[in-house]
Amino acid sequence: MTNGQNEELIDTHCHLASERHVDIVSIRNECEALGVSHCISLGTHPGDWDATLALAHRMPDFVSACLAVHPSDCTGVSEEQWECMKHLCRKHPLAAIGETGLDYYWDAPTGWTEEAYRARQRDFLERHFELARTLGLNISLHTRDKVGAGSSCFEDAFAIARQFPTVRPVFHCFIGSRQQAERIFGELNGMVSFTGLITFKKTEAVQAVAAWCPEDRIMVETDSPYLSPEPHRGELNIPGRVRFVAEKLATLRELSFEEICRITSRNTRLFFRLPN
Ligand SMILES: [Zn+2]
Ligand SMILES: [Zn+2]
Repeated sequence: MTNGQNEELIDTHCHLASERHVDIVSIRNECEALGVSHCISLGTHPGDWDATLALAHRMPDFVSACLAVHPSDCTGVSEEQWECMKHLCRKHPLAAIGETGLDYYWDAPTGWTEEAYRARQRDFLERHFELARTLGLNISLHTRDKVGAGSSCFEDAFAIARQFPTVRPVFHCFIGSRQQAERIFGELNGMVSFTGLITFKKTEAVQAVAAWCPEDRIMVETDSPYLSPEPHRGELNIPGRVRFVAEKLATLRELSFEEICRITSRNTRLFFRLPN
């Protein structure tokens, strides 16, 4: 299935097993109506790993799975659960490890100092890279700093990624600077992917980065059920709406929609090693 113009379009980052999404069949129908043919769905905590794998097993032409522990969930995961996830990752075909990363935006949970919480996140990020390296997979990274607190989260994730040169990272929901993007491409052989944030007003800085990035480094995503793009801002998001992200990216880069579909799908197939 294509978007009606003979080019496929893939949502490279969504959470189909989220309890906020109810019905995979209607999600798929909405995707088809909007010309979206495939989704990379990421499990992020013990409660959604099995459901994510089950969706990919049930609809392999529509869903590819990734598994990880989200940085916001790392304090609630036992060593047994971590071992269980590693077992699942070895047993099932995955598109990548993810989403993992570092999140310094939210305060530490009760019983944790800020320092210990961040150290725990860094430890889990290293474990994920090690797992990805062992399995020969790439990795999907989440980084988020406190507003006005600089970019320590990005720098910490970057330093860990540098230790694993064979694992390519994608910095999902990229909102960083051109200088950060240049370092991701030049020093990590990494990628960036853009969400509906680039369709919002007052995001000119990241729009300029999206317009500038080399063609072979960009992908598009929804992060659904979050971050619904314009003209549906504020609603529950669905993977089909990656179409609006791709349309905006085409406008920013002064390319046709078909051309953006072709570029981002080719990049996605390579990065996530999807079969043709
Ligand atoms: Zn994220
Ligand atoms: Zn996500």
